[in-house]
Amino acid sequence: MLLDLAYPPVCLNCDAPTATPDTLCPKCFAALRPITAPLCPRLGLPFAVSLGPEALSAEALADPPPFGRARAAVIYGEVARTVVSRLKYGDRPELARFCAGLMAGAGHELWAGEPLLVPVPLHPARQRERRYNQSAELARALGRSTGLQVDTDLVRRTRKTRQQVGLSGDGRQRNVAGAFAVHPDILVRARGRRVVLVDDVYTTGATVKAVTRTLLKAGVEAVDVVTFARVVIGADLPI
Ligand SMILES: [Zn+2]
Repeated sequence: MLLDLAYPPVCLNCDAPTATPDTLCPKCFAALRPITAPLCPRLGLPFAVSLGPEALSAEALADPPPFGRARAAVIYGEVARTVVSRLKYGDRPELARFCAGLMAGAGHELWAGEPLLVPVPLHPARQRERRYNQSAELARALGRSTGLQVDTDLVRRTRKTRQQVGLSGDGRQRNVAGAFAVHPDILVRARGRRVVLVDDVYTTGATVKAVTRTLLKAGVEAVDVVTFARVVIGADLPI
């Protein structure tokens, strides 16, 4: 295409030329840290050594999450942080395509049984400010790559919460408690299907846990979570 000649593809992180669009250059790609097995079957935390398929992480045992399984494509490191911040604040659909490609692989165990993909919502006022809900963009791109149905209206944020950045674990939990409501037709829209929540970064999980509780209370039977990146203590950057 003429357009491709005029705008040769560049790395989504460092803007170096790339052979194909919507991707990272080899150097940045190598700096991403994919999360692969062995991992905690509940929280998706990577294990240094395999403890068997049933072994849970200490975190999952100490504080069992309301969702069934969480999976993330990469550890939240430097390259992932740049990609996420560009995804959040810029109108860059190619970033959502790239992230969703990796999320489709990382979440492969979650796609059986045709679950419904549901993005973590922004408050309508914040979405107007930003013009853009990065989680909805990720969910749509993930829907295209997995063939799964996306429902961006199943959950909405009813309270304008503070940004989670800078809050402690407990503070994050209090900040989002009761901040979500479901669509009045939820049981028709979900039709007995499992929901997979889609978000950009899993930090303490406070937000996805709050959305999960709201969905379970409304009669959804099971909820899983998929994110592009995940903070892993000892391997993460402060956010
Ligand atoms: Zn690069």
